[in-house]
Amino acid sequence: MAEIPIDEMEPGSELDELVAKRVLGWKRHRRCPGEIAHMPTGWRCRRCGKMGDEGAPTEHEERPPRCSTSIVAAWRVVERFAHEGVPVEVSANPTERGPEPWCAVIRMGEVEHTAGGETAPAAICRVALKARGEG
Ligand SMILES: [Zn+2]
Repeated sequence: MAEIPIDEMEPGSELDELVAKRVLGWKRHRRCPGEIAHMPTGWRCRRCGKMGDEGAPTEHEERPPRCSTSIVAAWRVVERFAHEGVPVEVSANPTERGPEPWCAVIRMGEVEHTAGGETAPAAICRVALKARGEG
């Protein structure tokens, strides 16, 4: 269980990490498998964007995808559920569901999980954690 209710978790690194762990199978302290591009000024990881000085060790920890702020990253969450046969429904301005501008719904059998958000990624992250039994 998270320390704060899911609906009150703001988009950011804490929410990103929780979603990455619970939904995407991300593990803390895992080496980033990104390809390293070498430049005259140093290196840059093509996967996560981490940069380092030339000659500095290129090994670095994987960062959780920014699922709560990036729709590209949040879509990985939607796709993960889709692969499990569970559709994630995202809608804008769902006045009947509450005051938040975005709403996400996951139906699992008889149970319907819903979450709102200021942005679609935030709503997707929150509903995903609820569907995974958090909060
Ligand atoms: Zn990387």
